[in-house]
Amino acid sequence: MIDRYRTLWEPLLEIGRAPGGGYARHGWNAADLACREWFTAQAAERGLTCEQDRNGNLWAWWGEPGAGAVVTGSHLDSVPNGGAYDGPLGVVSSFLAVDLLRERGVQPSRPIAVTAFCEEEGARFGIACLGSRLLTGVLDPAKARALTDPDGVTLATAMTRAGADPDAIGRDTEALARIGVFVELHVEQGRALTHLDAPVGLASAIWPHGRWRLDFTGEGNHAGTTLLADRRDPMIAFARTVLAAREQAARTGALATVGRVAIEPNGTNAIASRVRAWLDARAPDGATLDALVQAISADASAAAGADGTAVEVFPESHSAVVEFGAELRDRLAGVLKDGGFGPNSGTIGQPAVPVLPTGAGHDAGILSGFVPTAMLFVRNPTGVSHAPNEHAPDADCATGVEALAAVLEELACR
Ligand SMILES: [Zn+2]
Repeated sequence: MIDRYRTLWEPLLEIGRAPGGGYARHGWNAADLACREWFTAQAAERGLTCEQDRNGNLWAWWGEPGAGAVVTGSHLDSVPNGGAYDGPLGVVSSFLAVDLLRERGVQPSRPIAVTAFCEEEGARFGIACLGSRLLTGVLDPAKARALTDPDGVTLATAMTRAGADPDAIGRDTEALARIGVFVELHVEQGRALTHLDAPVGLASAIWPHGRWRLDFTGEGNHAGTTLLADRRDPMIAFARTVLAAREQAARTGALATVGRVAIEPNGTNAIASRVRAWLDARAPDGATLDALVQAISADASAAAGADGTAVEVFPESHSAVVEFGAELRDRLAGVLKDGGFGPNSGTIGQPAVPVLPTGAGHDAGILSGFVPTAMLFVRNPTGVSHAPNEHAPDADCATGVEALAAVLEELACR
């Protein structure tokens, strides 16, 4: 399995990789289109019926597309300068798991589909899980069409340029009705499985999380001639807010990150006139998340008020807590335990696979509001994710494929 995994994995590694090793695969850009071609080619090679739905999500069908399907997959896009595994590992594993079942002569009683959801990371248009949000109708299509990338290109324009029809996006009842159950395999974005000496695990929940834009405004001026006392420099309140976000997160047992900032005019010898920053916040529960963002916003306002600048906070996206259904999870935990996919810690008998929460959002989280959904994680020894050195060992990836195949067989045959 390791060799077969490498054979499918390696050609994909070339697509959209920068010289430094990071990926720039973003919704409808050239690298994303190349990934889509790769997906279509994989489907064709296997004789699977391939389609792109109205929202740009890809589907490869083993069996007649129809209701009650067992759907598995992930996404092919990346964060800016992202790693190779977040997303693509789930898609590659899905194709390999289907191969395995077909070789074993498994006859599913339900159709099985491999999917790749569009713009999961939200790196280009600012809203994560764009494809699954549109499909399920949790995102307004008119709002989505008007989303812009950092160059000012709207989603509508980007789709049109890529030969897709932006007027067709929106809730897709037909596509949704076909999903009987969705299973997403994903590289772990942390080190919990490493600590437990387990190659694979199951997800219990996704922390509630969201993105907020903070616009700090002041007065642009000359860096050499404006006295300190005369300045209204929005960088100061911005800097204090970054520190406040860290402190408030530590205080509440949550996570807060400012990883993106746009400064105007962005000149070395100019006091900024405006600083636009994006806050990513996540917490174990919704009340903690609300309190965290309120506290950071209050700190930002206080910092701006103290130096004569101003700040406004705009919510950009929000995902409520996701608790994956216990019934499906327990069923899959049983399959994985019996299949010997539990930790390699020398325990006698068949140990159970770990069940973990995650702070990362996924299409599975969006879909879980509509269909039974589960997630499988594959061990990531360094825990690094959303960065070029994100890595999962080949042997664990191969184990992930076998585990996914066992899960699909259970769901599609029984
Ligand atoms: Zn992902």
